[in-house]
Amino acid sequence: MPEIKYCRDCKKLFQYVTGPVLCHVCRKRDEEEFEKVRKFLREYPGANMQEVSNSTGVSPAKISRWLKEERLEVSEDSPVALNCEKCGVRIRSGRFCVECSKGLAKEMMNVGRELKQSLSKTGERKFDRDFDKDEFGLYYKHKDQK
Ligand SMILES: [Zn+2]
Ligand SMILES: [Zn+2]
Repeated sequence: MPEIKYCRDCKKLFQYVTGPVLCHVCRKRDEEEFEKVRKFLREYPGANMQEVSNSTGVSPAKISRWLKEERLEVSEDSPVALNCEKCGVRIRSGRFCVECSKGLAKEMMNVGRELKQSLSKTGERKFDRDFDKDEFGLYYKHKDQK
């Protein structure tokens, strides 16, 4: 049975099949934009988010999302890094470090409540690095190449 969902970008209802929650139009645009960013980063590895956004016309929000979705990663020597949302350790893409991902998977299997508690505990730590700041050195994640 096909599912009807709201497109994440244009908010229109569409028949959802698989992958990101995007209608055909937005998915095509998304792929074109990603391709632009990918090509740009191949030519200018280490460009920061603002440069990438200016040169490709893709919004920083979208680039952040690709980072979270692990389609892009920040460079090792980037002045501003992503931090694990749980322990704050420096990571290059996604939301959690390897250790926390493992831990989270385990916790999720056990009790959702405990997970919430541990997350709110770590929430007291200071994460002063704003994800949307534009000093990222971005790289296209090569292992995604098929
Ligand atoms: Zn759409
Ligand atoms: Zn972590």
